[in-house]
Amino acid sequence: VGSIEAYEAADSAQVGSEVGCPHCGVMFKKRNAQHKFCCAKHRDAWHNERDPKRQEFIESRKSK
Ligand SMILES: [Zn+2]
Repeated sequence: VGSIEAYEAADSAQVGSEVGCPHCGVMFKKRNAQHKFCCAKHRDAWHNERDPKRQEFIESRKSK
């Protein structure tokens, strides 16, 4: 969970197959080629974790 391997597994899995959310590990059925996370929240959380500049930007907007 939370690994690049989990992300790549979800990315390369076939549409319609069961994949684990790279962020939380929950299993879900992949609905389309871009569907890699159980929910939008976890997709955002994943990308935020891996992009500190984006995180800073989001945090700076929150504080205003
Ligand atoms: Zn998740």
